[in-house]
Amino acid sequence: MKIFIVYAHPEPRSLNGSLRDRMVATLTAEGHEVIVSDLYAQGWKAALDGADFPAEAAGTRLDVVAASHRAFAEGTQTADVAEEQRRLLWADAVILQFPLWWFSMPAILKGWVERVYAHGFAYGVGEHSDRRWGDRYGEGVFAGKRAMLVVTTGGWSEHYLERGINGPIDDLLFPIQHGILFYPGFSVLDPFVVYRASKMDAQRFESVATELDRRLSKLFVDAPIAYRPQNGGDYEIPSMRLKEGLEQAGQQGFRLHRS
Ligand code: FAD
Repeated sequence: MKIFIVYAHPEPRSLNGSLRDRMVATLTAEGHEVIVSDLYAQGWKAALDGADFPAEAAGTRLDVVAASHRAFAEGTQTADVAEEQRRLLWADAVILQFPLWWFSMPAILKGWVERVYAHGFAYGVGEHSDRRWGDRYGEGVFAGKRAMLVVTTGGWSEHYLERGINGPIDDLLFPIQHGILFYPGFSVLDPFVVYRASKMDAQRFESVATELDRRLSKLFVDAPIAYRPQNGGDYEIPSMRLKEGLEQAGQQGFRLHRS
């Protein structure tokens, strides 16, 4: 199968760099084709701005959504963005790998999403009417593909549990897993999270890497997170509110969107 890793760490000799190398070696040994976008090494431009739309007339007010739509539809996107879109379309599975920085992804990776996810490509797709709010949340350009996060944190695992000071990790990752991955159609696997990354030595690294190998071997086998598809009948139209009574007792917050 074809695996696309989007990797966001500035230091190749970091823990993330070691885990990235391990993933490439493991996946390649299993017979997969692997492409890595190493955002810092590529000098990825993080900010979405007017330079992304070279065909827009100079001096016109920048309407980002409209400009993104035109550039994607008319093939006038910058070459770096078009190449990342090509890699996404090529892949059967996409892995986003990053250290947790301020409870989210590093800015360079957020900028990758903002620039690569063009209007008409990853959003603004399908029928938008009183009856339907487009092809999203389970449908979209990446339907049929799998995605997984590989994340390292400084905080302990206990800090990310239900009553932990940082909040549950599933809640913190919800905007990425549900908003960035499920929205344009990916089936999202549980994340692979390495907590308390600073407490790493050769022995722990080997055990973490072995568990990562195991997860990679199940990339096309493990059941994805059971997010509710937008157009599967669970949401009222057009308010897009989850219908009353579908939740289990006590289920609330982001967890409402899991069936
Ligand atoms: P590194 O610092 O490169 O390495 C970690 C340890 O692993 C080191 O001891 C290193 O020697 C060892 N190591 C590396 N490779 C190997 C190997 N092959 N074998 C054995 N040992 C190895 N944390 C949170 O929990 N929440 C936050 O919100 C948060 N925000 C942050 C914001 C910023 C701006 C920064 C800089 C850090 C933040 N952190 C946060 C901490 C951050 O998540 C961790 O520093 C990061 O996840 C560690 O990953 P790394 O790849 O940078 O590790």
